[in-house]
Amino acid sequence: MTFMRALEVKLGIGDDSGKLMFLVTASLRGGYGWYFPRGDEVNAGVVTYGDPVRELEWVLSTLNIDRNRIRSHHGGPIPVSGMGKVRVDESAILVGDAGGFTNPVSKGGIVGALFSGKEGGQAISRSLSGDEKALESWENRMREHPAFTPMNLDRNRFLSGLSDEALDALTSLVRGRDIWTLRKAELVKEVWRRPELRRNLKGTLKLAIGGREWVTWAF
Ligand SMILES: Cc1cc2nc3c(=O)[nH]c(=O)nc-3n(C[C@H](O)[C@H](O)[C@H](O)COP(=O)(O)OP(=O)(O)OC[C@H]3O[C@@H](n4cnc5c(N)ncnc54)[C@H](O)[C@@H]3O)c2cc1C
Repeated sequence: MTFMRALEVKLGIGDDSGKLMFLVTASLRGGYGWYFPRGDEVNAGVVTYGDPVRELEWVLSTLNIDRNRIRSHHGGPIPVSGMGKVRVDESAILVGDAGGFTNPVSKGGIVGALFSGKEGGQAISRSLSGDEKALESWENRMREHPAFTPMNLDRNRFLSGLSDEALDALTSLVRGRDIWTLRKAELVKEVWRRPELRRNLKGTLKLAIGGREWVTWAF
């Protein structure tokens, strides 16, 4: 498996704005920084192929965060090479991060862990009740999930090669809008208006359309 590294801090800062913030830059190669307010605390962090300590420092400085407010650190590897081998004959399955159930573009793994674990548990139950194909059909169903398809590995590769200028143009597509409210025709028009994206028309559209797909899967 290929891994990125994530590192986050919990901050004792009250912020009830409810506004999530994402920071992107080319050196994160498809990773991003985040700032998630949660009422009386804030969760800020970064996911990167590089040094997460250095990149977290970049996030905290960019957002002008007082280091004295840091209450705790938390970090770990994020698998980003798609679904791995998740079934060993009919005797074992791997779910969650262990099986690579992480969206390679958003790097989110909570929904994938719940989804693969819940359905995997039901498949085990059916298997123990005599359904010989239960684990195999669980695996096939998992592979069809849009977040785990080879298309998303492509999207991750494309995203991790974008320059700062292209990333700025990409984020400006949805500034102030929810991505699922952009119709395909509108998306094409907006991409065409931005020279940094027009050069990568196919990849950009693949990526933006993926963002809309995952919304329907709560990813
Ligand atoms: C800093 C950071 C931020 C993240 N933010 C997000 C986010 O905002 N959204 C999102 O969707 N995903 C996020 N993720 C990813 C998400 O946390 C994981 O994808 C998800 O937790 C995977 O769930 P899991 O059950 O597969 O594994 P885990 O949550 O890692 O659970 C595995 C458990 O097994 C235990 N364990 C390990 N070895 C043993 C052993 N030998 N015996 C007994 N127990 C053992 C571990 O202690 C752990 O409790 C983040 C990850 C990190 C590191």
